[in-house]
Amino acid sequence: MFDKILIANRGEIACRIIRSARALGVKSVAVYSQVDKSALHVALADQAVAIGGPAPRDSYLRGQAIIQAALATGAQAIHPGYGFLSENPDFVAAVQDAGLVFIGPSESAIRAMGLKDAAKALMHDAGVPVVPGYHGANQDPEHLAGAADAIGYPVLIKAVAGGGGKGMRLVERPEDFAEALDSAKSEAATAFGNDAVLVEKFILKPRHIEMQIFGDGVEAVHLFERDCSLQRRHQKVIEEAPAPGMTEEMRAAMGQAAVRAAQAIGYKGAGTVEFIVDGARGLRPDGFWFMEMNTRLQVEHPVTEAITGIDLVEWQLRVAAGEGLPLGQDALSISGHAFEARLYAEDVPAGFLPATGRLRHLRFSEGARNDTGVRSGDEISPWYDPMIAKVITHGPTRALALKRLEAALGGTEVAGTVTNLGFLSALTRHAGFRAGDVDTGLIARDLDMLCHQKAPEFWQVAAAAALAIDLAHLTDPLAGFAQAGLIWQSVALEDVAPLHIAVTGPAQARVRLDDNEVSVSAEGGALRVEGAPELVRGICAAGRITLFGAMPCDFVLCDPLERENGADAASDLVLAPMPGLVKAVFVAVGDSVEIGARLAILEAMKMEHTLTAARAGIIAEVLAQPGAQVEAGTALVVLEDEA
Ligand code: ADP
Ligand code: ADP
Ligand code: MG
Repeated sequence: MFDKILIANRGEIACRIIRSARALGVKSVAVYSQVDKSALHVALADQAVAIGGPAPRDSYLRGQAIIQAALATGAQAIHPGYGFLSENPDFVAAVQDAGLVFIGPSESAIRAMGLKDAAKALMHDAGVPVVPGYHGANQDPEHLAGAADAIGYPVLIKAVAGGGGKGMRLVERPEDFAEALDSAKSEAATAFGNDAVLVEKFILKPRHIEMQIFGDGVEAVHLFERDCSLQRRHQKVIEEAPAPGMTEEMRAAMGQAAVRAAQAIGYKGAGTVEFIVDGARGLRPDGFWFMEMNTRLQVEHPVTEAITGIDLVEWQLRVAAGEGLPLGQDALSISGHAFEARLYAEDVPAGFLPATGRLRHLRFSEGARNDTGVRSGDEISPWYDPMIAKVITHGPTRALALKRLEAALGGTEVAGTVTNLGFLSALTRHAGFRAGDVDTGLIARDLDMLCHQKAPEFWQVAAAAALAIDLAHLTDPLAGFAQAGLIWQSVALEDVAPLHIAVTGPAQARVRLDDNEVSVSAEGGALRVEGAPELVRGICAAGRITLFGAMPCDFVLCDPLERENGADAASDLVLAPMPGLVKAVFVAVGDSVEIGARLAILEAMKMEHTLTAARAGIIAEVLAQPGAQVEAGTALVVLEDEA
């Protein structure tokens, strides 16, 4: 076993790797960018090395700097985590050239699976079923359109170099093909520097079921499947293992196909073979097709760990250190059921917009495994993926594991940024999901219901008022005592009718809204509110009040000094809707644009946002350059005044 390894990553995955390394007696070296100087992964590691500026290309993507850090600290191996350099074959080669071990597959295995078209061809030859389609070299639009006709609509256009759902377009009718092809190619060119695409049959009622595999370079085993069908925009939201409705027969067929895939490329380490399954026909041994292979540890690996009792990072270190596979296929079995929910800083109703902010408060439920890379007080910065944590639960049955997930999410407390916590909680109560009737369209179909925010109940408003005046700390024995009776003060919350609160005693108050009045008292870190179903926990910080629990909700304290933004001036300005990186600008000063014209592309980790013209006009100013990192609200393009 190694004495010391370097982890070429950040966030939750770096922390998670450090823990397994420590359990094996292996020391760990962290690397960090300027903005991560006091990050959790740096604090947890035995040593840490600064590798540059906040932008990934200036730090976590600087292969040579990372290799130098490993050599300088005496680390013998490098674990890449996921993302960043994890699937970069040139990095693997450079690590090995420096005399270090790459904890992962070989350069050639990564190359073989790097492009979806080549991977599909390879898998087809290895006898693994692939999605019917065209994955050849001819990129002539006429030819691709002909291929789509031959496959039969609907079809999916995919960037061969794609990932994270980018460069992918669903086309339902032949007349839409040409335009979809153009936009897929241009998105692929910006995102991956490679505009080649493939065309494949779009599977109706698709389920995403993937197989965890593990190889030692010669032999390979599978560690069963994960169902990742709960997706928004082709990105996973909640994953589970095993897959609901899976039969022994289909599991065996998928497992064998995945192991064949791994053996075909002499796979070493942890990997995932992703399949698309036709859920409309039920789970059957001839109803799954290879989509792609991810040659790394996957974000959702903990659900596999929960049902197999295996530490996959431990296996990665042991195999990289030269041991054979720790267990054979016959020694592996499934115990119970597990779920993982990805908790993000994001604004769900606004279209899952990534968010940022300082975490004023962060507390996890004890009934779950919570993999995180942040603590209370840490910042979710615009530079990286805005994932706050993965909440993982396990139980003897699917129903119990799901109940535990619901409870764990209800007990998770985050303040300081908007999150998808309420959305995740609503998902755990979705009838179709509860019944195991999942497909990749579930979230999109029921989005309105899943993000529906009810007007707050009076008890929630009352709790917010108590938090606003910090009732818990008004413990003076004379609190509320006044000759003239109760003293009512007003609390102004955005979108809430005027509220009044009067202190009636130590840590006690009454809250009045219109004709309603309830009592509130603070007890042991929570509030007892008349009419509330349970004790209420929450926090007031930086002008925002957050209530935790099964139905988390947020209130904004009105700032009397704040002025309305001039609404008409805004239509001349195209603003960045979120912090991000300007990927492309399509217009120049003097251009005349139609309403809806593409002006620029803004990227915030894992999502590209196309900014379009809200009205027709002439471009007066272009304030953003490709490559610039911008804050939310930064003006990017200015249209000439209409008058
Ligand atoms: P998985 O395929 O494991 O379900 P996703 O596809 O949602 O996970 O995300 C994994 C990919 O997303 C990574 O390979 C990487 O491209 C990107 N990614 C996710 N998190 C980060 C991060 N913190 N930094 C950089 N890239 C990330
Ligand atoms: P990425 O590299 O972006 O992860 P994938 O090829 O893995 O791309 O596809 C991502 C998601 O897109 C899948 O999980 C699935 O939801 C959907 N998808 C991919 N291929 C198909 C298909 N042929 N039919 C229906 N849905 C598909
Ligand atoms: Mg994928």
